Amino acid sequence: MTKSLKILIPLIFVGAVFYGYWPEVAVRVSNFQDTYIASLFPREPCTQPIAYNLGAFDAKFNISQKYFLSALSEAEAIWEKSQGDYVGKDLFVYSPEDMSKKVLKINLIYDYRQEATAKLKSLGIVVGDNRESYDSLKAKFTALQKSYDQKKVEFNARVNAFNQKNKAYEAEVQLWNGKGGAPEAKYNELEKERVELNTESAEFKVLHINLNNMTDEMNALVVVLNRLVDSLNLSVEKYNTTNESRGESFEEGVYSSNGLTQEIDIYEFSSRKKLVRVLAHELGHALGLDHVKDPKSIMYEKNQSSNMVLTADDLTALKAKCGTSM
Ligand SMILES: [Zn+2]
Repeated sequence: MTKSLKILIPLIFVGAVFYGYWPEVAVRVSNFQDTYIASLFPREPCTQPIAYNLGAFDAKFNISQKYFLSALSEAEAIWEKSQGDYVGKDLFVYSPEDMSKKVLKINLIYDYRQEATAKLKSLGIVVGDNRESYDSLKAKFTALQKSYDQKKVEFNARVNAFNQKNKAYEAEVQLWNGKGGAPEAKYNELEKERVELNTESAEFKVLHINLNNMTDEMNALVVVLNRLVDSLNLSVEKYNTTNESRGESFEEGVYSSNGLTQEIDIYEFSSRKKLVRVLAHELGHALGLDHVKDPKSIMYEKNQSSNMVLTADDLTALKAKCGTSM
């Protein structure tokens, strides 16, 4: 007596999927420099406060508008305080009702950079803005990468072995089907093999998810590590890029104006202090200020200091724009 057998299309498919699709550890380019496009606004500098309000506000940041606005008013105060021979001026004014085109729109935009910080937080990994934090994250990354590489090699070897077994199984099924069916003993043997192959392919799915979770964690670590390299000004090699094609550069904030409208986009911040600093920096651009040399300055090209007041360089730039008194 013979029974006919079915070829396991799904198994072949699964094998192919595991084979063809392998997510590489994507490492992103990271440079903290922001984009400053000089303002074309026909405005008497500093004679009239710049009206601003909120534009896009992504809830994924998990902060309230109230919190964001208070950070903004802190950033505003940095520019408006009297300091030395500089007499403070009202340079910015929050105008929620102002619908005119010239109002400065401030947008909070969620993207992968903030996601990376949130991801690590969800894994219980605390990110601090200091060398110790960098070293401990780096050690975590190195250990994770080692374990990932090992698991990936094991996984690939298993998938290869599986594909071999599967091929042999298919060939045998085809052979017996060509003869009109297999004798019962052979049939049972092949059925047992089919069940085993199915079980193994189900295990692959779980392993694959685990490996993907590891790559997600590594990607998040890389984004944060590269950010720390910049913000701490570390003289270490950055994790080099494998997907430059995305064309992204790491920007915490961007000020842009096209002569008609002006906007500030905030993409990323790791703490309230960093948020206030990036806001103050972009507000400085809105005043028409360019970057200055002192790394402690608000208008330094990188957000690497924890200094929250204008430096001599900042003041010189501001006075050049606004004069020393009203
Ligand atoms: Zn800038």
